[in-house]
Amino acid sequence: MSAFAALVEAGVVQENVPLAPFTTYKMGGPARWFVEARERRRLREVIAAWTKRHDAGAALVLGRGSNMLVADSGFDGLVIKLSGEFADIVIDDDVVEAGGGAPLAKVARTAAAAGRGGLEFFVGVPGSVGGAVKMNAGCHGSETADWLIDVDLLDLASGRERVVPASDLDLAYRHSALADSDLVVAARFRTQPRAVTESEQLMREVTQWRKKYQPGGTFNAGSVFKNPVGDSAGRLIDDVGLKGLSVGGASVSTKHANFIISESGATSRDVFELIEEVRARVTEATGVELVPEVRLVGDFNPAESDG
Ligand SMILES: Cc1cc2nc3c(=O)[nH]c(=O)nc-3n(C[C@H](O)[C@H](O)[C@H](O)COP(=O)(O)OP(=O)(O)OC[C@H]3O[C@@H](n4cnc5c(N)ncnc54)[C@H](O)[C@@H]3O)c2cc1C
Repeated sequence: MSAFAALVEAGVVQENVPLAPFTTYKMGGPARWFVEARERRRLREVIAAWTKRHDAGAALVLGRGSNMLVADSGFDGLVIKLSGEFADIVIDDDVVEAGGGAPLAKVARTAAAAGRGGLEFFVGVPGSVGGAVKMNAGCHGSETADWLIDVDLLDLASGRERVVPASDLDLAYRHSALADSDLVVAARFRTQPRAVTESEQLMREVTQWRKKYQPGGTFNAGSVFKNPVGDSAGRLIDDVGLKGLSVGGASVSTKHANFIISESGATSRDVFELIEEVRARVTEATGVELVPEVRLVGDFNPAESDG
């Protein structure tokens, strides 16, 4: 029996696990293979076994699924979800070290409670540390790149581990040089001293702003499109009159035009087709080509809807 088959038999790696519950859209099909890794030793073991498979396909790291649209047919490969020690947060003087699976809001609150400021903006981003590094997440005038020192990376293709300084990650607006095979095991952030009450006030402001301007209480993945240079995707979509446009159970939010929200029962295909429709209409009306910020996971080939 192969090492991978042994891990499947032991229940460490599971087969055909629905991904919908792990995403903020709450839709999409299953992962062919799924592992919830709680410790480095286990993660290394799974990756070593996976890379030895002659038919090893793609591997995908799933953070908190807040920037993902998973195809209705799912993902035909290995999905890795980090928890346990990968969610640890340790503060050492002015450095905050957080595991790749740590929720960003928890990082913000833990740092703030220790009198460390700078990361308060993370309270508004419902993702994980790994997802924030990959996407260079940001809001309210700050982004991950402003505070990141370095990351521990694990190469899912080779099992190699290395420490990479932030300056080598080519971090730019919702962009990093991380390959899909790079797993962020942990990240270190610099911080600055700040009174706890001041950090708490900053975090309150972030949360209040979001309540006011974003469609809370809906299934969505935040901003669907990146902002074009010097402009706002939401403004363009709104100006073209697309608020409320819908496909099946997915619609352009009437509160924030760069959010596509879904009703329960909506399919990923609905969201995907609406993304394409919005893109096409904005290009036709303005000449601007919107680029999705949301990561499309799996196969969105039109042939999918034939079955
Ligand atoms: C209501 C709402 C508001 C949002 N507001 C903002 C905002 O203000 N600013 C902003 O930037 N984003 C925002 N987002 C989008 C999203 O929260 C961020 O992009 C976040 O950083 C994604 O993190 P995640 O853990 O959910 O990543 P996922 O959605 O799980 O994954 C996104 C990408 O990151 C990769 N990834 C995840 N974890 C790791 C890891 N450990 N190692 C390597 N790669 C990894 C995945 O493979 C995938 O390619 C919002 C989303 C929602 C739903």
